[in-house]
Amino acid sequence: MQPQEYMMRGKEMVDFIQQYLTRIRERRVVPDVQPGYMRPLLPSSAPYEPEDWSSIMKDVENIILPGVVHWQSPHMHAYFPALTSWPSLLGDMLADAINCLGFTWASSPACTELEMCVLDWLCKALGLPDHYLHHHPQSNGGGILQSTVSECTLVALLAARKDRILQMKSEFAHADTDESVLNSRLIAYASDQAHSSVEKAGLITLVKIRFLETDEAFSLRGETLQHAIDEDRRRGFVPVMLCATLGSTGVCSFDRLDELGPICAREGLWLHVDAAYAGSALLCPELRYFLNGIEFADSFVFNPSKWMMVHFDCTAFWVKNKMKLQQTFTVDPLYLRHENSDTTDFMHWQISLSRRFRSLKLWFVMRSFGLKKLQDHIRHVRRLFESLVRNDTNFQIPAQRHLGLVVFSTQELLRKLTKSGQMFLIPAAIGNKLIIRFAVTSQFTSAQDIQRDWSLIQKLSALLQYQKNSFCMNYKLLYP
Ligand SMILES: *Cc1c(COP(=O)(O)O)cnc(C)c1O
Repeated sequence: MQPQEYMMRGKEMVDFIQQYLTRIRERRVVPDVQPGYMRPLLPSSAPYEPEDWSSIMKDVENIILPGVVHWQSPHMHAYFPALTSWPSLLGDMLADAINCLGFTWASSPACTELEMCVLDWLCKALGLPDHYLHHHPQSNGGGILQSTVSECTLVALLAARKDRILQMKSEFAHADTDESVLNSRLIAYASDQAHSSVEKAGLITLVKIRFLETDEAFSLRGETLQHAIDEDRRRGFVPVMLCATLGSTGVCSFDRLDELGPICAREGLWLHVDAAYAGSALLCPELRYFLNGIEFADSFVFNPSKWMMVHFDCTAFWVKNKMKLQQTFTVDPLYLRHENSDTTDFMHWQISLSRRFRSLKLWFVMRSFGLKKLQDHIRHVRRLFESLVRNDTNFQIPAQRHLGLVVFSTQELLRKLTKSGQMFLIPAAIGNKLIIRFAVTSQFTSAQDIQRDWSLIQKLSALLQYQKNSFCMNYKLLYP
């Protein structure tokens, strides 16, 4: 195909995407396929001769889309939202065309500089501390875009570990001790509600992770942390990091930064804050009530790729002291050196070398919507679902309210809802009680969509004849 023809195909693709997104509510949100469904539908090896574009597109509709979970559907309530938007899609299309790899400033200056500027914008828009800004006289920190929160939590733990090991080595008693021996004494903390990525960071770094019990609101409290630190020091361990969660995956609970922050500062623990989902809510000043104590955080991470309509991958990660990252990740091969090496080279802030021009889609989103429209988006529809739930005496809202996540029992209802293909929800556990999570998306979600899903839940639950108190509904609301 000639470039001219690809241009036409490109325009058709935009039409196709437009069709797909506007008619998405007509599709089954959960596909009706079994494992291995695709293999018999595709040839066993790649075509030798070039194929027709139209036959590829035909297979997209016939083979690919029937096996897709439609994450942009207004009836998608599983996991957390992964929203996209036209500015994000089109901005990233441009990034794909440029396809620069911004590992150093010199490898594509605009890639590094836009990222620094846009992360400063975002930092200010969320009301985060000035010490996370690249461009601020009193700041030693800055922000970077990475691919996932999991990766950032690992990066934070690697940085905390490096810093502590260097500190131990500088002490006379440890000067000659092998780093692996020092590593074996380290211990880090998170709450029992923390994301599985914290456990994974522990597996990778060989730093022990201790999961601490939360209170009745599923929040980690200062007293619990202090007790664990004291106990572990007595046992000869060296506490190195706390990963606090703002907006846990299971029930959207918040650890008490106001209590934990001062303890981390006093005890010399790196405080890493995982606000993967809830971070987007900070765009609205009235939703910053869980941010008290943020000034103590050494690093903060959230996913604009969840709720902020910037499509995957886009994870914003800020550190208070960029030197701590650089001392962890700096290598200096000749072929990557350049004259302006006193500028920011993001390869020293991350695990991989190469990096996409991710800031472009974020920049397009922030400019096209403006903070005003982004705030409207965060505030959209969540009130309605709460009122529907409250009006049904079969359901209870026993727990303290936070962001847009509903959880209720039971497995049978979940199975039926998923099987219907009309809605997608997933389970979680509170203690040993299994619950269903209902994540309220938005963007394509209208009042009718919420009403329709709620009626279906009611209908199915009535069908299953659950007794009044066999339900535990815990609607963590956006509005306190
Ligand atoms: C979604 C989520 C994660 C994982 O995010 P990835 O970017 O997929 O690694 C981590 N922590 C919390 C609280 C989350 O909700």
